[in-house]
Amino acid sequence: MQTQGVLAGRSIMITGASSGIGAAAARLFAAEGAGVVLMARRERELHTLVDEITAAGGRAAAAVGDVTVPADTDRAVALAVETFGKLDGAFNNAGWGTLGGPLHEVLQADFDRMMDVNVRGVWNCLRSQLPVMMSFGGGSVVNTSSTAGRFATGAAAPYVAAKHAVAGLTKAAAAEYGGYGIRVNALMVGVTRTELIEGVLRDTPVREKDLVTRAVQRRLADPVEVARAALWLCSDHSSFVTGGEIPVEGGAFAT
Ligand code: NAP
Repeated sequence: MQTQGVLAGRSIMITGASSGIGAAAARLFAAEGAGVVLMARRERELHTLVDEITAAGGRAAAAVGDVTVPADTDRAVALAVETFGKLDGAFNNAGWGTLGGPLHEVLQADFDRMMDVNVRGVWNCLRSQLPVMMSFGGGSVVNTSSTAGRFATGAAAPYVAAKHAVAGLTKAAAAEYGGYGIRVNALMVGVTRTELIEGVLRDTPVREKDLVTRAVQRRLADPVEVARAALWLCSDHSSFVTGGEIPVEGGAFAT
């Protein structure tokens, strides 16, 4: 077991680990000493990442699954306990969204998917993780919200609603489980260069600079810049931080 790093000896579950922010977090957390259980639906991407982390001397296991399915999030938590002996942390990061367009034109199927992946996904993860963390005496959970969890960014209305709900679930869980030594925080993430945003730029007429007009730093984030904030929240360096909405948004909330 790696004894160096801010997460040395920790066991951490990361959802949405097959690409983007989750994959960046998987590499970073493993490099900082954690054993990571990686969850997403795409099997090949997860196994490739597990192999990469293992080849670099890290510890990783793949839990192929869908966060909208409670049995799958239960299975990922069980794999963390089986492989690394416990569960100390979780980065509940899987999500999906689209750009806006008038609310009344959003397809019902897109509403369902945005609510299911972003809200039910975090809900399922919390329900699987919290009792296990309680049994091990504590832990730290980080949920991926968005600037859309604070204001109408131009993303589709159900995405804005879903990311507000993630912030609400975070506060409720922080209040209810603080007494068990469990901290729960949300990351309010600004526009980040990942598959999700590349899909938006490909499928809609929006330009990259239109996505960052509100940010002080007029650029997209690199996924690792978001992963570093999740690392801090999962580590003991953030020991007095819970129930928080932590901005990683290049200053979009300042303007
Ligand atoms: P991404 O590269 O598209 O990653 C999304 C991840 O979620 C993928 O690993 C995907 O894996 C996984 N996922 C989607 N649906 C899932 C499901 N039902 N079950 C399990 N895994 C699922 O995009 P990203 O930008 O890194 O997104 C990560 C998080 O950041 C999301 O919560 C997103 O809303 C949030 N965010 C992103 C931005 C941005 O500008 N990129 C801004 C604010 C917030 P599979 O397809 O393999 O399942």
